[in-house]
Amino acid sequence: MENNDGFLPLPKHFSTIAIHEAQEPEKWTHNEVVIPLTLTVSYKQSEPGVFRKYAHSRNGNPTRDALERILAKMENGKTAACFSSGLGSITTLLALLKQGDHILCIDDVYGGTYKLFMEVATRFGVEISFSKCEVSNFEKNIRRNTKMIFVESPTNPTLQIVNLAELSKLSKRCNALLVVDNTFLTPYLQRPLVLGADIVMHSVTKYLNGHSDVCMGVLITNDEIMGKRLKFLQEYMGVVPSQFDCFQVLRGIKTLTLRMDQHRRNSMAVAKYLEGHPKIEKVIHPGLTSHPQHELAKKQSSGHSGMLAVYLKGDIETSKKFLASLKCFTLAPSLGDTESLVALNAIMTHNAVPKKERETLGITDNLIRFSVGLEDTQDLIEDLAQALAKI
Ligand SMILES: *Cc1c(COP(=O)(O)O)cnc(C)c1O
Repeated sequence: MENNDGFLPLPKHFSTIAIHEAQEPEKWTHNEVVIPLTLTVSYKQSEPGVFRKYAHSRNGNPTRDALERILAKMENGKTAACFSSGLGSITTLLALLKQGDHILCIDDVYGGTYKLFMEVATRFGVEISFSKCEVSNFEKNIRRNTKMIFVESPTNPTLQIVNLAELSKLSKRCNALLVVDNTFLTPYLQRPLVLGADIVMHSVTKYLNGHSDVCMGVLITNDEIMGKRLKFLQEYMGVVPSQFDCFQVLRGIKTLTLRMDQHRRNSMAVAKYLEGHPKIEKVIHPGLTSHPQHELAKKQSSGHSGMLAVYLKGDIETSKKFLASLKCFTLAPSLGDTESLVALNAIMTHNAVPKKERETLGITDNLIRFSVGLEDTQDLIEDLAQALAKI
């Protein structure tokens, strides 16, 4: 990857941060090299109200604190607060708003986020509306009471790119917070705070943990006042992760760069193979020159992950037949894991979005989303070849 394929350079010291930040063995009783898993909920006080650092694990504990320090540093932020799921972190974000405020959200958004905004936030008098990915469209849809702009880039599942630096200028002009869901790229490949975002959100469940065995979310900011507010909400809304899950993620992120490099190589190989295949109508992958926003992707990110989407030539039956024939790709709705996963988004992740809106968004019955994993490249391609031969 000479010149990083025209994308921004990969961040320096990234693996070193993942492996060494917040890991001072001298801090622990026995100089443990690996951060200990501290399961206690309660901490003894020497007299009423006098305690060393922690009182109750919901407020803070050594395992979670270490993870938050690393995640903040990776994103170029000052404060990170972890939550019990990605959606839990977005639920907590809602508590930054009040009745009568408006969220302007990108239209192609994670299905769960859509449901949370539409079916929960609106009950508390928060207005929600949606915008296409162009900054000019956001500008058109801003309201007097817009307090938060919420985007993903690339979006899920159609991998559209939002110009984050431009959008952050707009959000600052309108006094709205810009929140970027950076789940698809991780801080290794995109750093929204540097581009002007106020808060970065991740579903840690996906690439950051990377092994499909933890559900977690995180909010990261470089504004100290906002950081304090998020820590307060973490403590008093109580949507916290378990210490065990924090321990698992501390282990998972040590190999983040290795994994992302392989996800990236594998997804590119798969994208190129599928792009030339006669049974495929179209491949969407930000690393392909055919992606309509390929140049923008190169300008604001350091690469692409394992995510891609394709339109098969055919209908729902073709899609089902194809999915049933795959052996190396597991039919499952998550992403960012070691194993390759595949999803029929219209049914599996976006059934909450009305059919007509889904189709406007391009989430049709022949759209298949791939989360390309870490298997041997040739095995993945051979699997796709045999499944395509059956449709
Ligand atoms: C999975 C996902 C979420 C939700 O995260 P959970 O950890 O499953 O609650 C939010 N945004 C994106 C882009 C996701 O892929």
